[in-house]
Amino acid sequence: MAYNPFENAQVQFDKVADMIGLEQSARDLLREPMKEFHFSIPVKMDDGSTKVFKAYRIKHNDARGPAKGGLRFHPHETADTVRALSMWMTWKCAVVDIPLGGGKGGIVCDPRVMSMGEQERMCRGFIRQTFSQLGPVIDVPAPDVMSNGQHMLWMMDEYETLAGGRYPGVITGKPVGTGGSLGRTEATGFGVVYTLKELLDAEQVDIAKTAASVQGFGNVAEYAAKLYTQLGGKVVCISCWDNSDKTAYTFRKKSGCDIDELVGIKDAFGSIDKAKAKALGYEMLPGDAWLSEDVDILIPAALENQITPEVFPNISKRVRFIAEGANGPVTPDCDPLIQARGILLIPDFLCNAGGVTCSYFEQVQCNMNYFWSREEVLEKLNRVMVSAFRAVYDLAKQRNVYLRDAAYMIAIERVSKAVKQRGWI
Ligand code: NAD
Repeated sequence: MAYNPFENAQVQFDKVADMIGLEQSARDLLREPMKEFHFSIPVKMDDGSTKVFKAYRIKHNDARGPAKGGLRFHPHETADTVRALSMWMTWKCAVVDIPLGGGKGGIVCDPRVMSMGEQERMCRGFIRQTFSQLGPVIDVPAPDVMSNGQHMLWMMDEYETLAGGRYPGVITGKPVGTGGSLGRTEATGFGVVYTLKELLDAEQVDIAKTAASVQGFGNVAEYAAKLYTQLGGKVVCISCWDNSDKTAYTFRKKSGCDIDELVGIKDAFGSIDKAKAKALGYEMLPGDAWLSEDVDILIPAALENQITPEVFPNISKRVRFIAEGANGPVTPDCDPLIQARGILLIPDFLCNAGGVTCSYFEQVQCNMNYFWSREEVLEKLNRVMVSAFRAVYDLAKQRNVYLRDAAYMIAIERVSKAVKQRGWI
């Protein structure tokens, strides 16, 4: 069955809108993005040809502050994926209570097969097309799948060239030293584990006695795996994509993966070198084997629509917790199955909100032109993540609802209050 992430996002929203009796005007406004830009970016390629890349920037809602959200570079990017992600960004900023709205962007491209020069020209082209619609007080992009700090820096430079001034708050996820914040690289993955640790503590489970299986080994998964193992947890396997074989593999070491060792043999896109992994004693299994591993915790941190009713029976009965590092890894029709089995799931827009929270800190630091230490950033991040998690967990207990629904209740109520207070509805 093919899943449409935007329809998934709307199904989740409609369910909670019904549960809280949200008024019709708020529903009409909040179940669709407020503004969409669809455009083309012509790029001169190294071989002298011109390639035209399709791109999107979508603003779901900015009642609580400037729109904020990543920019994905992916050959399968679609308007509906960007719509869904922009909507999730609104809920994400609201659930952690930072003064930002929801936006998202995407370019249909494959940076893995583009030269640095081609990538730079594409990034600058993106800014030329969106210049009037971006800015520190309008809409602020950040890195996401297959985009990185270098891309953000080229974009900031293009924006500043057009604007004729220095506007480091126009974009986040920049390299440290050129407007970036310490702690940003690890923020999303660490945030996943801050919430996971809080959930385990609340359920009186010792993290050091748990084992986890991870999907993905990019920015989010790497740092989640790192902190989780530092806290004593055991990562039994990691699944990631192999672009030369166009397939995913699961790398398993039952005694526990050495995360630093695997980081040393992965490429910039989060693919682990098969030959080197074999030499280090890792078993290589099919890409979806991570899901059926005998562990306590699943951390899907790669892509959307990975846990569906079709694959749900493969999940080990031992699994008690799912931490959604990725956006939308569980389809809405699978939520009832997860809930019925009593698995506690930390929903994506809470679990992976560490990245946007740290992006917000980056903007604050840029605006002040004063930068904090890594410890200060991570301590502030921990505080935000833990307090947001506690509010969601407590509400879920109090109302006896699924954690995702509790997170939605808090977020939707905050955003609908802002649109009402502004007089939009
Ligand atoms: P990334 O590009 O750094 O890494 C993606 C990883 O997923 C890679 O290791 C890749 O090999 C793997 N992968 C791709 N297809 C796969 C498949 N079919 N099976 C197994 N593995 C596969 O991306 P990222 O920044 O780590 O983002 C991962 C997810 O987290 C996305 O859903 C993204 O939207 C979300 N997210 C990212 C951030 C952030 O700060 N980077 C913040 C919030 C949410």
